[in-house]
Amino acid sequence: MTSNEIKQLDKQNVMQTYARFDVAIESGEGATLYSPEGKKYIDFTSGIGVNSIGYGNKKWADAVYSQAMKLQHISNLYYSEPYAKLAETLTKRTGMKNVFFSNSGAEANEGMIKLARKYSFDKYGKERSKIITLCQSFHGRTITTLAATGQEVFHNYFFPFTEGFKHVPAHDIKTLKKEMTGDVCAVLIELVQGEGGVIPLCPDYVKTLSKMCASKDVLLLIDEVQTGVGRCGSLMAFMQYDIKPDAITFAKGIAGGLPMGGVLANEKCSGVLVAGTHATTFGGNPVSAAAAQVVLDILDEEALKEVINKGEYIRKQIMQWNNSIIGEIRGKGLMIGISITGKAPKELAQKCVDNGLLILTAGADALRMLPPLTITYEEINKGLTILKKVLEEE
Ligand SMILES: *Cc1c(COP(=O)(O)O)cnc(C)c1O
Repeated sequence: MTSNEIKQLDKQNVMQTYARFDVAIESGEGATLYSPEGKKYIDFTSGIGVNSIGYGNKKWADAVYSQAMKLQHISNLYYSEPYAKLAETLTKRTGMKNVFFSNSGAEANEGMIKLARKYSFDKYGKERSKIITLCQSFHGRTITTLAATGQEVFHNYFFPFTEGFKHVPAHDIKTLKKEMTGDVCAVLIELVQGEGGVIPLCPDYVKTLSKMCASKDVLLLIDEVQTGVGRCGSLMAFMQYDIKPDAITFAKGIAGGLPMGGVLANEKCSGVLVAGTHATTFGGNPVSAAAAQVVLDILDEEALKEVINKGEYIRKQIMQWNNSIIGEIRGKGLMIGISITGKAPKELAQKCVDNGLLILTAGADALRMLPPLTITYEEINKGLTILKKVLEEE
């Protein structure tokens, strides 16, 4: 099919819930994508942080194929090796105690919210169920994770939302203290707010917040759905913050493009969700698990160091452009936000697409880059050349 035929078919048959860029993609190789007509695009998006090891990875595809031929799914009522092995890899490399596998980020956060509320219920009884989140946060699209999300634009139409969430501004210890009342069971944060605009939290703030939580047995929950799996240059972003979270979630990049998410809990929280309290049919699917194992093998210490190096390289290049529409360059590792003044980021992103570069936006003012972690310097340079040209035309 041609791009135009695909677009037409989509418009006629798909709920138009996505403000799609005007482009169709058919295949990829490394960090380069191709339209049905063979037009080439450098990918600074990795499908919003999902295709962490790029496109056409043979090791990954072989693992997916052989697991699919062997056993594509088995109910969570039975044991299976890919699931157990992946759980071991994750606990070993994060220092957490155990894991619950889900299929998406929102679903992982739902599980972590349930875990926090049950931890508190078991220990303190009913009236201690409130969860504090941050104003610029994003935690998912289910009714409960929308309620957890701190951005007001997400609190429309779908009333009634789940009760029990309070939002506080980031980096405001005074308000946090005031809201940390006796009915709070957890604080949930992203360490670099992704959808909110690629805003990294200050280590000092996170440290203080973490100490406040620990002193009241309030659980510290980290949403690593976007920041995790190597995106920020460590396997999980919390590893750069000198904190010990009680639970973290991951999803997006974990299986290199197949659906998977999960909650990792520390020792204290490892026995909270017992049989019958939480479940999901597809969670820990063997094919996704086999894929995730390859992703984690590829993301060894050396590859993670390269994520930091590439991120620094990109920042340095952009800084040298001295373009006045570029404000701050924010983020960590290969999670990069460029704030733009006086222009709509979405329009710039579409112009980049027209010139052969896929790039995202975040918050109200930023262009966002989440390239595959395995992107080459050659691809980075090609992408930056296009971005530079588009920004210079403004
Ligand atoms: C994308 C994202 C989610 C939601 O993940 P889905 O897989 O789309 O449900 C939750 N939290 C953060 C921080 C995210 O970036």
